[in-house]
This record gives sequence, C-alpha cells and structure tokens, in this order.
Amino acid sequence: MTDTRAKSSGTLFVVATPIGNLDDLSPRARKTLCGVEVVAAEDTRRTRGLLSSIGAQPTVIAYHEHNEDARAGKLLERLRAGVDVALVSDAGTPLISDPGWQLVAEALAAGIEVRAIPGPSAVIAALAVSGLATDRYAFEGFLPRRAHLRAEYLRRLARETRTLVFFESVHRLADTLSALVEQLGADRRATIARELTKLHEDVYAGSLAELRAELGRSIPLLGEFVIVVAGLAEDVPVETDEIRRVFELLRQELPPDKATALTASITGAARNTVYRLTRVASAPDEAD
Ligand code: SAM
Repeated sequence: MTDTRAKSSGTLFVVATPIGNLDDLSPRARKTLCGVEVVAAEDTRRTRGLLSSIGAQPTVIAYHEHNEDARAGKLLERLRAGVDVALVSDAGTPLISDPGWQLVAEALAAGIEVRAIPGPSAVIAALAVSGLATDRYAFEGFLPRRAHLRAEYLRRLARETRTLVFFESVHRLADTLSALVEQLGADRRATIARELTKLHEDVYAGSLAELRAELGRSIPLLGEFVIVVAGLAEDVPVETDEIRRVFELLRQELPPDKATALTASITGAARNTVYRLTRVASAPDEAD
C-alpha cells in the first residue's frame, strides 16, 4: 500500500476533551487546540467556552449529526488547502457515539494525515471502575429507543460472553434496565457508573435486578450514566439460559405461577428447577 498523503495538506486532529472534570484536558490536547486554525465542534457554544478557558482562538465551525454530509466536504477543502483542523465533540472522544467517522474516513481516503489526541471517554472510564472483566468487551452505544426493537436487540446479545457497555440517557435508564433484566436475566452482574469525573460521581455494582430496584432510591435519577454488564459466564449451560429466557418472555404476559408452569412444559424442566432459576427474575415485578 502506498502512502498517498499529500504533505502540503493540513492535518486532521481528533481531540478528546473532558467528560466532566476540566483538569482532564491533556497538555497535548490543549497545545493542539491552541495551534490549529479551525476547530470543528458538535456544539459551538460549548466548545467556545472550553477554548476561551485555555486562551485558544481558532475559527469554530459547527459539525454535528445534522450537517455531517455537507460540512465534511467543506472541512476537507480546508484540509487540502493546508489548514490544520481539530475535531472535538461536546465531551469525551469524538466518533464514540458522536459525529466524525465520515470526516475521518473521507480524510483518509483523500490522503490527508489524521492524528489522534487521545484522552477521556466515558466508555473506558466506566469499564475501568466497573469491577467486571475488561480483557474483552463490546461497546454497544445507545440501545434502540422503541421497546420491541430494544428487546429484540438485547435478545441477540443474551449469549455474548464479552462484557457489554451501554450508554443511556436518564429518561430511558429505568426502561433499559428492565429490558436488560428481562433479556439477560435478573442475576447477571452489572455496574452503573454515574456522573464520571464530576462532583456527584458514583459507581453502583450489583445484579441487574438489584440495580433496577435501587433506581430512584440509592441511585439518583440525575446526570449521565454508563451501564456495564457482565458477559454470559462461559460455564452457564444453554438449558439454564434457555429456561430463563422462556420464563422471562412468558412473564411479560402471565403471572409468575402460570409462567413457571408453562416454562416447565415448554422446556421439559421440572417446575421447581424453573422456580429456582427464575425466582430472582420475578422478584422486582412482584414487588411493584
Ligand atoms: N463521545 C463521548 C465519550 O467518548 O465519552 C460519549 C458521547 S455520548 C453522546 C454521551 C453519553 O456518554 C451519555 O449519554 C452517557 O451515557 C455517557 N457519558 C458521557 N459523559 C459521562 C459521564 N461523565 N458519566 C457517565 N456517563 C457519561
């Protein structure tokens, strides 16, 4: 493969910014933002605040999900003309559930130099404090908003053995945790990381059912959240998982005793086995 980078072009810097604590802006990020002519920002007002706090005075151009197509072309023109451009998002690392991949892809295709200025990201910060396995993980971003699509999506993730990382807004956190309980099982281990690096930062670890039950109680429904969920333990027999899955599906329509009886006839398991495997799953609903 030939390196087609035109040396007369500018460089596209992908710059990570703090997710809460301004002290997390790295010296290299600061130097880059002070050195470039143009900053492409998701929210220009917010980024101008950050830039003025470090005495940087670049031209700030809006680059967000609604104008990505049109703006990528204009930014490439500037880069081709030799202008250095820094891409930032509202917080954290651009492109991670934030705009930018199209610009990076087009810059690479055009032979423009692309450089990472790494730093904060809620994904890695949450994983690091989750207490769950970090050797392999799958970042799943935001789940589909519509309930049936979210359930279907999670059903496909139920047998994933890697640790799962989800972003979620405060408004959908309760529904998402209920869906996780239903599709992955009430006793799956998980961690909720709230307001990372901020004043009210906190980390809550427990089973999915415990975390769901604590929402709005010991876990305040305020701020920003990452949900980290353990992958399926490799040694869980398929039958056990299948019994839970069938029970949890039936439980959406039926009372616990009927769901238990029907799960037993569908899977061939003894009723008391179904009960033992699913009694934690049914606890939060019964308490409602
Ligand atoms: N690109 C960003 C990054 O690298 O962290 C993520 C942007 S995404 C649009 C925003 C989501 O990230 C929030 O809804 C929340 O799930 C998570 N998030 C961002 N900052 C956070 C923080 N300080 N604490 C917990 N979660 C955070």
